[in-house]
Amino acid sequence: MTQLLHCKVPDGLSIEPTHSPMEAHAMDAQHLVAGRWQNVSPSAPRQLYVAFKVAEVCNLACGYCYFFEQADQSHSTAPRYMSDTVVEQSARFLGLGAKALGIPNVALALHGGEPLMLGKKRFDRVCEILKAGVTPHATLRLAVQTNGVLLDQEWIELFAHHDIAIGLSIDGSREIHDAARPDKKGRGSFDRVVKALRLLQENESRGTIKKFGILSVIDPAMSCDDVYDFFFRELGAKSLYQRAPNLNWADSSESTIAHVNHFMAAMFNRWAYEDDAVVQIRHNIEALHPLLHDEGAFARVTNILDLTQAISIRSNGDVCPDDSLPPVSMRYRQLGTNVTNCSLETFYSLPIWNEINEALGENGSECRTCEWFGLCGGGPAVTRYHEEDKFSKRSVFCAGYKRLYEASREYVEQYLDPSDVRARMRLASETLTRHADALNAGTPLSSDTDRASSVPSAAILTHSSLLHA
Ligand code: SF4
Repeated sequence: MTQLLHCKVPDGLSIEPTHSPMEAHAMDAQHLVAGRWQNVSPSAPRQLYVAFKVAEVCNLACGYCYFFEQADQSHSTAPRYMSDTVVEQSARFLGLGAKALGIPNVALALHGGEPLMLGKKRFDRVCEILKAGVTPHATLRLAVQTNGVLLDQEWIELFAHHDIAIGLSIDGSREIHDAARPDKKGRGSFDRVVKALRLLQENESRGTIKKFGILSVIDPAMSCDDVYDFFFRELGAKSLYQRAPNLNWADSSESTIAHVNHFMAAMFNRWAYEDDAVVQIRHNIEALHPLLHDEGAFARVTNILDLTQAISIRSNGDVCPDDSLPPVSMRYRQLGTNVTNCSLETFYSLPIWNEINEALGENGSECRTCEWFGLCGGGPAVTRYHEEDKFSKRSVFCAGYKRLYEASREYVEQYLDPSDVRARMRLASETLTRHADALNAGTPLSSDTDRASSVPSAAILTHSSLLHA
């Protein structure tokens, strides 16, 4: 049992980023953004999450792709590849923005389309330019999300050189993956992606790379056990981030939602009780960690706040909110903001952020009274979207989140005092509520006061106390 708990509690929380706010005339954006929640969790410093679209072109034709295959066809008029000039301007935009807003970390995902289509020389240059522009002002963490088709040893060494975390997209078994992720000629890409996976695993064994994981979209055709056995037993994966599809209230599919809602808790239970020290599933860790200790609760709140205000930079330098939002409405992709004509502070001062910040729940909404609000935050903004109500609804996957968090609580309460676990839930919810209110009202919090008032009298649990439970 000791081993099981130990393996489910990694030393560092690594979740996601961002932040910001309000109408430009309402107040000083720099003051707002810098003061809002920077010290919510000392153990998880804030991060600015950036999807950096270096290539708006792809060598696959995945049917569910929100970027190429759905209503938003803005890529068709965008440059296929980001120019060096736009990369330089973006690096300046991010570095100076992070400095002005007091954001210590920039977590930037080299994204597409398929970013490897940029070619190695150009990709290398992009990394160098980003480092030169950002690192004088903030820590830069680079990641790449690839479909694996072009991956070879030289690419892996390039990633290692720049310390780039690697995400590989695999949807499931050959049948599932080939149906979901064909190439432009309609041929499946399963064999090519598995070849890429094996190469990454060899390099991981040799220590050439430190971090790589699999990104997958939950598919109704695969049960939880199918997925677990395929990724962790057949493929030998160690790290999986399996996300729900980007469904919202306008295009929701009842059968898919029902599957996802069942799947998340089932996956948690399989993972938690399997007791495999190697396997890490991000969504499960996000559900578990906040219940284990107060730092985990604070870190989750920081992560929710940061993710709410993630940004994307297009190949032409246009700056948009989180990458999942532009496809649902023109409002989020035609803002007139570009790295050449605005600062990060100015971008965060746009009125559009009022809508997005409401993703954290308006007063009186179902989410704000939900016992899981501090862990869930209402779910990803895109899954709450409704043409008329914007983000004031709960997530279309609400029932699934509740089942997931209840499974996590049930698991944790085998080892910890239930009153401590529930105090931690309240701590997270109260902290998120306070910060969300401040965000929506434009009232900066005093970080010291906030932190002091947020810490409950219960002793902070540590990993070692868990080990002795
Ligand atoms: S579980 Fe549902 S009601 Fe609770 S915060 Fe999440 S989306 Fe909102």
